[in-house]
Amino acid sequence: MTGAGRAGNGWRTARLGHFIGGDWVAAGSGRTYVDHSPWSGAALCEVAAGDAEDARRAIEAAHAAFGGWAGESPRRRQQIFLRAADILEGRRAEVLDALADETGCGRHFGDVQFDFTLRLLRQAAHLAYRPMGELLPSDVEGTQAMAVRRPVGVVAAIAPWNASLTLAGRAIVGPLALGNTVVLKPSEEAPYTGGALWAEILHEAGLPAGALNVVTHAPGEAGDIGDAMLANPLVKRINFTGSTPTGRRLAEKAGRHLKRLVLQLSGQNPLIVARDADIGYAVDAAAYGAFVHQGQVCMCARRVYVERPLAEEFAERFAAKVAALPTGDPHDPETVVGPVINEWALALLDRRVNEAVELGARVLAGGVPRPPCYPATVLTDVPGKAEIAHGETFGPVVILEAVDSAEEAVARANRSDLGLAASIITGDSRRGLRLAAQLDVGIVHVNDQPVNDEPHMPFGGVKDSGWGRFGLGFAAEEFCELQWVTVRDQDRTFPF
Ligand code: ADP
Repeated sequence: MTGAGRAGNGWRTARLGHFIGGDWVAAGSGRTYVDHSPWSGAALCEVAAGDAEDARRAIEAAHAAFGGWAGESPRRRQQIFLRAADILEGRRAEVLDALADETGCGRHFGDVQFDFTLRLLRQAAHLAYRPMGELLPSDVEGTQAMAVRRPVGVVAAIAPWNASLTLAGRAIVGPLALGNTVVLKPSEEAPYTGGALWAEILHEAGLPAGALNVVTHAPGEAGDIGDAMLANPLVKRINFTGSTPTGRRLAEKAGRHLKRLVLQLSGQNPLIVARDADIGYAVDAAAYGAFVHQGQVCMCARRVYVERPLAEEFAERFAAKVAALPTGDPHDPETVVGPVINEWALALLDRRVNEAVELGARVLAGGVPRPPCYPATVLTDVPGKAEIAHGETFGPVVILEAVDSAEEAVARANRSDLGLAASIITGDSRRGLRLAAQLDVGIVHVNDQPVNDEPHMPFGGVKDSGWGRFGLGFAAEEFCELQWVTVRDQDRTFPF
């Protein structure tokens, strides 16, 4: 069992082990599973199929490494993250290829992930020199008080497949840079680009053994490892990026263990087009926001609301643009809409679109699967009782609605239980800001589409879209404990 190391595309034929305590090891049970390409269906690599016992070994390795890593000098920590960025940068072509192979990620979104990740590592390097606390005034004479930020210990990270490189990176780099050690559980759909690759890079950059551990598992077997992370008292925080139903299950169990979670969950993200918008810009923004990475980004626009004076022309131009989006092989740089992640996802999209149509929705573009792709699809007149009108449908389908006013769009959008991201396109940016303040979401972009991220921004949702924030500076609130410390330089007088 190994990682793929520097063997170029060797990962395709590698047997990927867990990475525990600085070593590549087989699952304790000896079981493996095969990771497949969503585009070609080809077998990619054989992966350790871990269980709760493997998770326990990884947690104990992370715990053993904590004291050493937390006490490492800022200079050394900074060097490791800068070095990791340089190593990753040198592997660009190979990593983009792996993202396309393993997750169907096309060239554009591969570049987005890659560049975000380089910035994440380079910005994280500076966290080593972040002030560790504050001095606080005290009314008790002779007492000096301070709030000191300390790393928590072992952080467990559960990451999804969709932006595997970035979302696994975001889940581990902030916590590590703050002095924690980490056990990463990548998705079964992305054990390499969301797991083993991170171990390779950070290990080569000099991260000490045990500071990052990676445990993989077969499809359908995440629960065992998640439960082991939740129940183990050595794990002090868990961060999870994935769907709301899974996040809710984790939060219910975490309550029993009083374990703090950061949850980054589903979105039903509105994009609102005001009557004074530049219609060409709005069409381009909506097409990008709805269909980047074939709609498999939690921030993707799921509903486009257009103020009525523009609605008809917008629908016509948007549908024409969407129908022409090139669909197919994610390795082809011209492709916009690549394959969806697996057959289950394709069948779900097909079922939900068909159900909406049976209930009266109209298809303005797409709507017929082209396995393993689902083409970019625009629906309108979708009745409220259609499944696709609720929750999140993770793929290239967007719902178009005409509204009398942007305020009505805000009210409709706020009816959703989800509240991740939103955007507003308007010629009047002050009105845009007023509308932004009324939207119950964690992220709003005025005169842009909703899919944006930068490593230092406070990323996260409200309502059923999650708790807590990623974003390097903000991560300190999630992955550190604030300790109140006082020191006196003279004795006090006590009443008895
Ligand atoms: P998606 O539909 O995007 O795959 P999920 O929420 O199912 O969203 O998956 C996100 C991550 O959560 C993946 O790493 C997956 O393996 C993991 N996961 C799924 N079910 C559980 C569970 N019961 N406990 C812990 N992790 C889980």
